[in-house]
Amino acid sequence: MLLWQFPIQLGDDSLLPVTLGLALVTIFGAVIGSFLNVVIHRVPREESVVFPNSRCPACGAAIKFHDNIPIFGYLALRGRCRNCRAPISARYPAVEALTAVLFGLTFVRDGLTLPLIPDLVFVAAIIALVFIDAEHMILPNVITYPGLALALLARVLLPNLYGLSFLSEGSLANWPAWTVSLCGALIGAIVGGGSLWLVGQLWEKLRGVEAMGLGDVKMMFMVGAYLGWPLTLLTIFVGVLLGSFAGVGLMAWRREPDMQMMLPFGIFLGLGSIVSLLAGMHIVNWYVSHYIT
Ligand SMILES: [Zn+2]
Repeated sequence: MLLWQFPIQLGDDSLLPVTLGLALVTIFGAVIGSFLNVVIHRVPREESVVFPNSRCPACGAAIKFHDNIPIFGYLALRGRCRNCRAPISARYPAVEALTAVLFGLTFVRDGLTLPLIPDLVFVAAIIALVFIDAEHMILPNVITYPGLALALLARVLLPNLYGLSFLSEGSLANWPAWTVSLCGALIGAIVGGGSLWLVGQLWEKLRGVEAMGLGDVKMMFMVGAYLGWPLTLLTIFVGVLLGSFAGVGLMAWRREPDMQMMLPFGIFLGLGSIVSLLAGMHIVNWYVSHYIT
């Protein structure tokens, strides 16, 4: 399946366009990261992400165009507002740098192919969700609902049959690829969102407390629909693993074994989904070849 191969051949004649493409996509990532900062700041406050222009949260002064250049604007100002000298959160350059790096890595994985477009949209949505969850412990519907719709659309327009041999060689053998892909998206969504919802329900029955926000469930509907069930299982596995490490670390640091402590699980699911998107195929194939066949 072509969609899942590395299309980049680092031959002599193709090295220049690849390097140029990588540079452009990385710079594009920094610019999108700058927009994601606006999303991360304004969406939880239910403000428009388009108007007004960026302002200093401390003094309200409009931010000049040249101060708004990703990463470099922050460095030139030494992390302080030009007008009132209030410190600017290091989150701003961090989001810009992270988006730039992840866009670059996504390009290395996809090359200049059509799936690159939805993959970059997916990465951007996950970055916004992770940082909003870290600060506010919410995963806003205005991101997860359109994310789910776009994931389904992408799966219809660019059929991806990975993990669906039981459908494409079985009962749906004669169906067009996009219908099989859409079925795969629905299976992935059920595996992602459904399993999380079920665990949350069971936990609530057993312990009488809410364990899982519905935001996590909706986010995993989106992730599951886009990545399909094998990479969704990997996403949950990586998310639970990272979340457990973080939870144990936090408990040791606070020196109080408070099991009711709430961790924004969306952060770890988000990290898991990025790992799955970028390297999941290699991890799953390695696992299958070592432990299943
Ligand atoms: Zn200011």
